[in-house]
Amino acid sequence: MSELSSDLEKKIELKGMDLNEIGTIIKNLREKPFRAKQLYKWLYRKSAFSFDEMSDLPLILRNYLSKRAELKLLEPKKKVSSKIDASTKYLFKLRDGNCIESVYMEYQGRKTVCLSTQVGCSLNCSFCSTGKMGFIRNLSTGEILDQFLFINRESDFSITNIVFMGMGEPFLNYENVIKAARILNSELGPEISARKITISTSGIVPAIYRFADEGHKFKLAISLNATTDAQRDKSMPINRKYPINVLLEAAKYYTRKTKRRVTFEYVLIKDFNDSIDDAKRLRKLLSDIPCKLNLIPYNETEFSPYKIPDEERLEKFIKEIHRAPFAVTVRRSQGRDIKGACGQLYLQTKNE
Ligand code: SAH
Ligand code: SF4
Repeated sequence: MSELSSDLEKKIELKGMDLNEIGTIIKNLREKPFRAKQLYKWLYRKSAFSFDEMSDLPLILRNYLSKRAELKLLEPKKKVSSKIDASTKYLFKLRDGNCIESVYMEYQGRKTVCLSTQVGCSLNCSFCSTGKMGFIRNLSTGEILDQFLFINRESDFSITNIVFMGMGEPFLNYENVIKAARILNSELGPEISARKITISTSGIVPAIYRFADEGHKFKLAISLNATTDAQRDKSMPINRKYPINVLLEAAKYYTRKTKRRVTFEYVLIKDFNDSIDDAKRLRKLLSDIPCKLNLIPYNETEFSPYKIPDEERLEKFIKEIHRAPFAVTVRRSQGRDIKGACGQLYLQTKNE
């Protein structure tokens, strides 16, 4: 077992490795090849917290790994459960001291985990708490997965859906996010169906083309949130680089190339993007794209002046948009009392 000793100071991050990479580790340790699958299952299917649990691995291998490999990439710092719905928000501390958030939600029989992909975010959307933090760093594949593995282990039921809608922009951490999604989808891992894994982007256009060309089966969601460039430039600065027509062209390319629908997310903000004219423009913008539209009434935060539209205005908007040729869903915010929007718990804790 000496092959790994050259880089022993730094513990190996096993979580985040795919089956091939784990196979290489096992081979270098001169263990039998089938040990790789066993180890993979312990990591990703059984969410093992320690090597002691890996009862069908030889003791010598377990002892070796426990000295050389790091299994715990994060620990819970705060956990808040909603009193009004079945959602729970986690604040996790990473090994370097940085913190990230993840959310567990139950809605219409789906048990969904919302994962962070970065510490902070560089894109600075004006309505978003994570945007206020600035960008700190990308998460490793293991750190992305460990959020799921921790929550999965804690929960009584199997998780059915994953959304990459926590802190950060998934398409600015493309490789690590796709690798994490693949492991979540893998047969020997949690085996979450690819159609139940959604990656949400603010509109990193080159990455949308890449995602389409690579032919992934994961779902794509695009946060549109505005109907004119003037409006979107203000709330989502990424729009100055990739304006609405360029973004929608990329979305069309994705639907043509993959024969899949794209989901547009539209956060409804009072007196900003919630007028009848907005609803009409939105209908027109999306009318020739095979898509679904997800309307999300704004989740108010104490870090921004934006408000949720009042009920009457919301109803009018929804009524107008329902005339569209595409499917529309309204996602009533989960966990409003636990600061459900991404970045909120982090900022609150930081200021405590
Ligand atoms: N960076 C990616 C994914 C993380 S944000 C993206 O922007 O798509 C996930 C979603 O949460 C986005 O649709 C974003 O518009 C939305 N969001 C951010 N802050 C919100 C808030 N306070 N209320 C409701 N939705 C919010
Ligand atoms: Fe980043 Fe998404 Fe928040 Fe914008 S909405 S700041 S892209 S996490």
